[in-house]
Amino acid sequence: MKRPVIPTVLLISAAFALTACGGGGSETASADAAQPVEVVVDGVATISAARLGNLLRTVPVEPLSAAEQTSLVFMREEEKLARDVYVYLDSLWGASVPTFSNIARSEATHMASVLTLLQRYALSDPAAATGLGQFSDPRLQVLYDQLVAGGSVSLVEALKVGAAIEEIDIIDLQAALALIDNRDIRLVYESLVSGSRNHLQAFVWALQQQGVVYTPQYLTPADYAAIVGS
Ligand code: ZN
Ligand code: ZN
Repeated sequence: MKRPVIPTVLLISAAFALTACGGGGSETASADAAQPVEVVVDGVATISAARLGNLLRTVPVEPLSAAEQTSLVFMREEEKLARDVYVYLDSLWGASVPTFSNIARSEATHMASVLTLLQRYALSDPAAATGLGQFSDPRLQVLYDQLVAGGSVSLVEALKVGAAIEEIDIIDLQAALALIDNRDIRLVYESLVSGSRNHLQAFVWALQQQGVVYTPQYLTPADYAAIVGS
């Protein structure tokens, strides 16, 4: 079976720079904003905080809707859920595969990029005082507990947990994007979707190495094929 191609970095930033810098953006900001937000580290798409910061300077802060506010708070902890589950599963299975460690590092950059938005809109951080594996949102606490229990059974089950988390992230982010028009939030969420697709491919690939063909648990077969079947 051929290894899925790791997608190249996001190019949405270039289009953004053209529209956002129209009149008075500085030359430095324009040049930086033309850089993709994502970099690939250890085969995993990761958000560059410096590039994101430069790009966000070219995008205005717009009024925040209730849906946007709710989503930002939730998504900060959903990215934490992914990171914390992978840190835990890496402690169990890291000697066998580097996947959890690599993707946990990428999730930390996803968490940081949502935190950047929370700070931009002066919202309090639900993850400010919670430790590893602890969540302010009780739904995410229940989900975390279920996922680490499932992923403790075997390496294959752990990799399936990873793929499921990425499927859920993609679905949640796309549902959120349908309600969000602020350009800065869309920019971050679209890069998170891109990262999640990359992570899903990495888990599916790792399962293939264990002789397992992954079956999507949440995405439609068509949506899954569009991500992994390419
Ligand atoms: Zn993520
Ligand atoms: Zn992910």
